[in-house]
Amino acid sequence: MKKLFFIILFSSVLFSFNNFALAEDHPVTTEYSFIESYAPFRDIMNKELGPGEEFAISANGLNAYIVKSVTVTDEQQLINLMGASSEANLTDAQKGLLEVFRFSKSEKISQLKSYIQPPDKKITLQLNDITGYEDEKKYPTIKKDFWPRLAKNSTIVMSAAPYLHDGKNVSEMLPKVLSHELGHVICDSRAEPSGYGSDGSHYLNEIIGPQAAFAEGFADFTRLLCFPEEEKEYRGSLNSFLIESQGGKYVKLGLKELSGKDLLNNEGIDALILSSLAKEIPNGKDAIIRCVQRNNSQLNPIEGFLYYFVKENPSLKDKVCEILKRETSNKLSDDEISKIFNPFGNNTNTFLDLTSTMNSKPAMPKMYQWVDKNGEIHFSDEPPSPNESGVIMLSPSPKGNPTIATYSEIHVDSKSSNPFGE
Ligand SMILES: [Zn+2]
Repeated sequence: MKKLFFIILFSSVLFSFNNFALAEDHPVTTEYSFIESYAPFRDIMNKELGPGEEFAISANGLNAYIVKSVTVTDEQQLINLMGASSEANLTDAQKGLLEVFRFSKSEKISQLKSYIQPPDKKITLQLNDITGYEDEKKYPTIKKDFWPRLAKNSTIVMSAAPYLHDGKNVSEMLPKVLSHELGHVICDSRAEPSGYGSDGSHYLNEIIGPQAAFAEGFADFTRLLCFPEEEKEYRGSLNSFLIESQGGKYVKLGLKELSGKDLLNNEGIDALILSSLAKEIPNGKDAIIRCVQRNNSQLNPIEGFLYYFVKENPSLKDKVCEILKRETSNKLSDDEISKIFNPFGNNTNTFLDLTSTMNSKPAMPKMYQWVDKNGEIHFSDEPPSPNESGVIMLSPSPKGNPTIATYSEIHVDSKSSNPFGE
């Protein structure tokens, strides 16, 4: 029987275990997957599939892969499946997959897995080997097609595809990506439909939709739980922020051009709020994760989490406010902060009101903002002249169909500003 396996592009970007209590180990099935063939969709879809084989449709919709998966039993078998007799003979991309397999068995990952609900939920770790398909000129959609992500049925898809040509150490990178994706398994928050902008990608320093920012921020938080040394890097890259225009182009804005509410719609800031809370309050990590899981369906934006967290832990309100102010560079007004903890005011009292208040689009200043053709940003109470060419509107955004950005466009602006990029 033919099985169809759609590649859905879920871009993925990317804290401290003080107490390594013995966690019950959550079973994870690991699969090794490799590309057997790649051809135009029409040619390949008529092929009969053998055991373990699946079709994977390329992001361009024109081509498809036949991918074969085999269950991994141990390290040596994995090395052999990769076509080598020993670790030394593996490619860098394959070494990264071996490293993430090892990391999946580590105590840090066991700790994270102990939070998975329900405790017997089936998780699959799929190690995608793109050997033979590394050339982006020949296979221009390889990065998108094998981008690490959480796919359906709690399958964590791993591959070195996005990291091969940007000088990143794949063996260091993939375990970090796994700790992020597990965060998505633990907190099943959903981004709003247009939460990632028209290109569907997000960066650590990008202002995105409130729900997307919290979903990714929580996953970045679980990454920081495993790799607390990265906090410095997070902070270093959150001095300037990216805003994606309707056309999928990115513009960089400094801290002074953004409001506190804007900053809450950034995954890096959300991750740092959670990380500081975890470190500065007793049993913070547990309290945060359990609160997220208990209230998940309503609390997608960070304001929702903070509301429920203080509701569950009223004595911690001052501490929460202190962290919230600090991590948003003291840009939230007292009124904005009090609205987070009292979103219903004195009249209504429904979750609907709460979520509609929180799910507003990323707040933009009530001014016209645009970038001229020389890349200069303008702020004005008047819009740019309709005759001016090459203008990218930042706020308010022009209506109309967004243009889908090409992959290369996505990376131009983010290169220097974001160490993670995914
Ligand atoms: Zn993610």
